[in-house]
Amino acid sequence: MDIIKLRINVANYDELVNLMLNCTKCKLYSTRKRVVPGEGPLNARIMLIGEAPGEREDEEGRPFVGAAGQLLTKLLGNVGIMREEVYITNVVKCRPPNNRDPEEDEVDACRPYLVTQILMIKPPQVIVCLGRHSAREVLTMAGYPEKSVSNISSIRGKVFTARIGDVSAKVLPTYHPAAALYNPRLREVIEDDLRKVRSLINKSERGGILDYI
Ligand code: URA
Ligand code: SF4
Repeated sequence: MDIIKLRINVANYDELVNLMLNCTKCKLYSTRKRVVPGEGPLNARIMLIGEAPGEREDEEGRPFVGAAGQLLTKLLGNVGIMREEVYITNVVKCRPPNNRDPEEDEVDACRPYLVTQILMIKPPQVIVCLGRHSAREVLTMAGYPEKSVSNISSIRGKVFTARIGDVSAKVLPTYHPAAALYNPRLREVIEDDLRKVRSLINKSERGGILDYI
């Protein structure tokens, strides 16, 4: 798969968002209430990628605003990362009915948006994949064999180097915050992983503006 060919030729970010808001490229368009393109500063150094909008996100048109999102915001805060300074999106931008897993044809149809976002939010120094769907999508995009990146428990907390088009970023997969809602142990794991994300940012900022400290 030549990822760079998937990049959508838009003049700017607003144009990309408009394409998403009007998208009918997969069957999820017929059941969604609202499209959830993603949000955050376009110069964010950290990009978080979840799986798919849930019920609350579908109602509000914003990513991670439900229970899992509130937990995510809290865990970010615990390690000194403000939610307002990260860019957050999902593998698919429309809610799958009853929160089922996104299907392959849907992920394929939505991929050009994610690729274009990664290339546009530049440079995201660290891409954090929330859950196995996101990890598989981003790491296979970066050329890792699917088999090697399908087991989230064995790849979480590891730092991968990814080249996507002309963007080079660290990719760090962790568990999905929804999995941690009723499992405090996973919360600690996610928090440790996010702490690592923060230290990666700090390291690459050494000698620069240390505004994460
Ligand atoms: N879960 C996700 O993966 N993404 C959201 O935006 C909300 C919940
Ligand atoms: Fe389009 Fe993606 Fe929504 Fe499918 S999930 S309709 S490809 S924006």
